[in-house]
Amino acid sequence: METLKYEKPLISKITAGIPNKFGLPVKQKIISEIDGLPVSELIEKYDSPTFIISEKTIRTTYQEARRAFETRYPKVQFAWSYKTNYLDAVCSIFHNEGAWAEVVSGFEFQKALSLGVHGSQILFNGPEKSAEDLTLAINHNACIHIDHFDELYLLIQITRKINKKARVAIRVNMDTGIYPMWDRFGFNYENGEAWNAINRIMLDENLDLIGLHTHIGTYIMSTSAYAIAATKLSNLFMATSRKFDHWLKYIDLGGGFASKNTLKGAYMPGTETCPSFDDYAEAISNAIISSEIPHEHLPVLFLETGRALIDDAGYLLTTVLANKRSTTGRRTMVIDAGVNLLFTSFWYNLGVYPSMDISEYVEDTTIYGPLCMNIDVVREAINFPQAKVGDQLVIERVGAYNMTQWMQFITYRPNVVLIDLEGKTHIIRKKEELESLQSFEINPKK
Ligand SMILES: *Cc1c(COP(=O)(O)O)cnc(C)c1O
Repeated sequence: METLKYEKPLISKITAGIPNKFGLPVKQKIISEIDGLPVSELIEKYDSPTFIISEKTIRTTYQEARRAFETRYPKVQFAWSYKTNYLDAVCSIFHNEGAWAEVVSGFEFQKALSLGVHGSQILFNGPEKSAEDLTLAINHNACIHIDHFDELYLLIQITRKINKKARVAIRVNMDTGIYPMWDRFGFNYENGEAWNAINRIMLDENLDLIGLHTHIGTYIMSTSAYAIAATKLSNLFMATSRKFDHWLKYIDLGGGFASKNTLKGAYMPGTETCPSFDDYAEAISNAIISSEIPHEHLPVLFLETGRALIDDAGYLLTTVLANKRSTTGRRTMVIDAGVNLLFTSFWYNLGVYPSMDISEYVEDTTIYGPLCMNIDVVREAINFPQAKVGDQLVIERVGAYNMTQWMQFITYRPNVVLIDLEGKTHIIRKKEELESLQSFEINPKK
C-alpha cells in the first residue's frame, strides 16, 4: 500500500466561491508534455535544465501571421529577425516557410549566407555596419537599410571605390504615439531628416533607393501606432514618386508585435491583452491601401516580426533544487535555471508551471535561480504549489531573445532540443563543456 503524500499545513484566507479579478479560482495549470513528449522523459534524455523548441508551434504561428496579412494585402514578405533567435535550426525553419533574413550585424549577415539565404533576400539593418560589412552586403546585392548620414557617406565612398551600385532603403523614426519614442535609429520623419536623406540618395547614381523601413519599438500593443507608421511611410513613398518619378519597391514596417507573455506591472495577463496578427494586419493594410498610393504601384509589405513568431515555441525545463523560508516567513524556492538563461525574466512575469499534479494548495512564492548572485530571481511573486526537491517544472514562452541574449555565467549553457513535426527530438545546440569554453582562452602562464 502506498503511503499518503505529506503536505505541510498551511493557513490561508478562504476565498472559495468569491471571484477574484479573473473570476473563480482556477485549478493550477500543469505542463506535463510538449508536443506529446513527456517532460520527465525529455529531462531524463537531455538533462535539466534544457531548452525545448517546438517546430510545430513555429510553423503554425508563422502560417497564422502570413494568413492574417496575405488575406488583406496583395504582396507580403516576412524577414526573420535573426537577433530574436539565430540558432541555425530555427532560422532554417523560417526560411523553409519562405521568410527572408533580417540581420543587424556582419556576424548575422554571414550566418544568413551560411544557411543558404540569397544575398538579395537579406535586409541589413542596424547602426553598426563596417566598411567590410557594407562591401560584403553590396557584393551580395543585399537591401542595405541606412541608419544615419555617416553610414550614407561611407556607403557612397565604398560604391565609388569598388564601382558597384548598392540597393538601399532608409530607416525612418517617427512619432506614432508610443513614448518614449525610439528616435535613436534612422532618420526622423517629422523634422524633415528622412526626406533630406531620400533626396541625397536620389542624387547619387550609385545608390538605388528601393524601400522605406521603420521599426517603431518592441512589444507594441497599440495597433493604431502601426497605422500611423504605415501612413507616414506611405506619405514619403508618394513624395518620392512625385518629385523623382520613382516608384519604391517596398515598405518595411519592422517588428515589434507583442507576444503573449505578461509584462511586469501589467494588470491583465498577456494572453488577454496581446492583439492578434489579424488586428495588426488590419491596421497596417488599411493604412497603406487607403493611402494616396495608386493600387497598381502598391509596394511589397515587409514585416520583420520577431518575438511574436517564436516566443510560444520555446520552453525551458527545470528542476527544483531547494525549498526555503525567508526571514519574513515567505516561501522561496530554488530551481536549476537562472536569469543568465532567461534574459526576458527582467521584463516578463514568465509562466512557471509544474509538470505534474503536485497539490491544489498554492502559496505566494519567490522563485530563485541557482546563481550565487542576488539578482537571480526568476519570479518575484507567483502563486505556486509546494513542490518538492527534484520536482520538474516548465517555463513557457521563452523562445524569443533568451537563446541569443543568454550568457555563460557560473554554469554551462544547456542543451537546446528541437521537437520536429514527427515528434522526434534533435539537439540543435549542445550543452557547453569545460573544453568548449576553454578553447577560446589563451593562458600565457601555463
Ligand atoms: C529586433 C528587431 C526586430 C524584431 O523585433 P520584435 O520586437 O522581436 O518583433 C525587427 N526589426 C529590427 C530592425 C529589429 O532591430
